[in-house]
Amino acid sequence: MNCSFSLEHYRELLAAAEVGGYHYAFFDHDPEPGDLLLRHDVDLSLDAALRLAELEAEAGAAATYFLMTQSVFYNLASPEGLRALNRLRELGHAVGLHAVWPGAELDERFDPVVAWHNPNPDYMSEPLDGAVNVMQTAFFDPDHYRSDSNQRWRHGCPHEGLARGEFEWLQLLVHPEIWIYPGNTMRETMNAMLDAERQRRLALLAEDRIDLS
Ligand SMILES: [Zn+2]
Ligand SMILES: [Zn+2]
Repeated sequence: MNCSFSLEHYRELLAAAEVGGYHYAFFDHDPEPGDLLLRHDVDLSLDAALRLAELEAEAGAAATYFLMTQSVFYNLASPEGLRALNRLRELGHAVGLHAVWPGAELDERFDPVVAWHNPNPDYMSEPLDGAVNVMQTAFFDPDHYRSDSNQRWRHGCPHEGLARGEFEWLQLLVHPEIWIYPGNTMRETMNAMLDAERQRRLALLAEDRIDLS
């Protein structure tokens, strides 16, 4: 199996979790044996998030999507943002807040669960009032956590461990952009994303009655 950051291997990763007997869980109870907490921090692209969400729904997977209200890359209050929120819920996923320290303002769009964006160690695991912090003690420790940050698994791709049921439970952090756009390095992947974004934005300009003739 080729551990590429591709949709093909993402499907294999989900299939491996099924082989290992894991079930998809949300951040609404302390993790139990067999729980797979699939977490998506949406840093850059709602489009990528939605495409991954559709794939997961087809595969019978459910995840928690953490969306930003203070992103420089997308606007959750825009029509595109509202469509994304609705569609994620329709597909059976949970939606949490991907917050920028120190503002964790939860409103009715979000479940009471927060993941900090690029957190510093001093507040990363601090419990919150009235909401779960995904990095607080019950939900996070290094043996039960894997992340694809910057297109690098620190302990190797988890597909084998999942298939063998090696994790008692697992919080798996996956950034949709990395899997949706092709590239062998983060730089290549980001360039592919920007190329796709250019096409998408041209369509938005036309919709906005900008004369592109
Ligand atoms: Zn793999
Ligand atoms: Zn982030």
